[in-house]
Amino acid sequence: MPDPNTPAPRAGEPARITCSCPVCGAMTLPADSFDLVVCASDAGRSFYQFTCPKCSGLVTKQASERVVTGLSARGVRVTSMPLEALEAHGGPVLTMDDLLDLSLALSKSDAVAATLSATS
Ligand SMILES: [Zn+2]
Repeated sequence: MPDPNTPAPRAGEPARITCSCPVCGAMTLPADSFDLVVCASDAGRSFYQFTCPKCSGLVTKQASERVVTGLSARGVRVTSMPLEALEAHGGPVLTMDDLLDLSLALSKSDAVAATLSATS
């Protein structure tokens, strides 16, 4: 978890944030190494992520409201959770066979045109 008590940077210095990679351990990274995604309707779904400079792993962690406040105050990029991520999904899971069938169907331009004309 980033330490929200890390002092604010002096003028001209990039903010540095203490964080931890599950593989490499604790480290301090500049604020622009992080992305913070905030979910306004469900604070429990907010998260931050960074790419570990040692192992290149993408580290993603839940962001409490305290962490959101601390990271945004230090200049971390903040984006809103896309609405698509909040949609409820039903139906069967998309499989590799489904994707291959779609790829084959799309490769036949006549079939695509027939499908589009049938639906319009
Ligand atoms: Zn790492």
